[in-house]
Amino acid sequence: MANLGNYKNTAEVLQKYQFRMQKKYGQNFLIDTNILHKIVEAAQITKEDCVLEIGPGIGTMTQHLAEAAGRVIAVEIDKELIPILEETLAPYGNITLLHADILKVDLQKLSEEQGIDRPFKVVANLPYYITTPIIMELFESHVPLESITVMVQSEVADRMQVGPGTKDYGALSLAVQYFAKPEVMVRVPASCFMPRPNVDSTVIRLTRHDNPPVEVEDEAYLFAIVRASFNQRRKTLVNGLVNAGNLGVSKEQVEDVLGQMGLSKTVRGETFTLERFAELSNRLGRVKG
Ligand code: SAM
Repeated sequence: MANLGNYKNTAEVLQKYQFRMQKKYGQNFLIDTNILHKIVEAAQITKEDCVLEIGPGIGTMTQHLAEAAGRVIAVEIDKELIPILEETLAPYGNITLLHADILKVDLQKLSEEQGIDRPFKVVANLPYYITTPIIMELFESHVPLESITVMVQSEVADRMQVGPGTKDYGALSLAVQYFAKPEVMVRVPASCFMPRPNVDSTVIRLTRHDNPPVEVEDEAYLFAIVRASFNQRRKTLVNGLVNAGNLGVSKEQVEDVLGQMGLSKTVRGETFTLERFAELSNRLGRVKG
């Protein structure tokens, strides 16, 4: 099958199968070979690697991944794409194609069933409507993975890598930076996709830390605190945490802990670094009911 990374060949495949793009699945297919090479390079794939591709589409990037990797497991939700993928990926003996919703796949079990004995490298041109849930699920479920190299909306890529004091700083920045080192790799204009999305895109690589950069006694509690702090951005941290109702702490307890940390009662979560959230979470965890 000819290289699919251009308008002509992609249009031909879609025409042959009378495939209709589904907006609900975030289908914007890559039609730029140069960008495909850059993504594969950014993911640092070798023949030793097993790559998990989320949403192969018509297989454009999958073909490049299969050339570079030892194995590729591609998970596609849209059943109309499966016969197309069976044809476009037929020449490659190292691809396992699964028809499934990635959010419902037990990745730990999949990795065992497939006999994968080293951490995955995840590579994807992600459907924008579920970028954050997919990335959070991949990290929080603790499946063995080494890195995630993904195309996301540029605005989301920016949110992943900023620190306190910027408007984009939030729960996603903290979660990503707790689990991984984020690095922006390539900015991708809308003209590289079919159909063109309304936003610019960015490829970002998240390399998982061997150990998180901060010591946290209860990871789930840390993220509950982080979410509560940013849910009500305009409120003080104390009000945000108490109003959340699921943290098991009273207003007095939060104020007390902030005092022990040398902080004012009116402090806001958006000024907190990851280190400070970790300390707050550990201290509140010890006094909560
Ligand atoms: N990888 C292809 C490319 O680069 O041309 C397609 C990328 S397109 C932005 C996103 C793909 O993810 C589509 O093929 C879509 O059907 C698929 N997809 C959307 N939601 C999914 C989910 N929950 N699980 C698996 N695949 C999904």
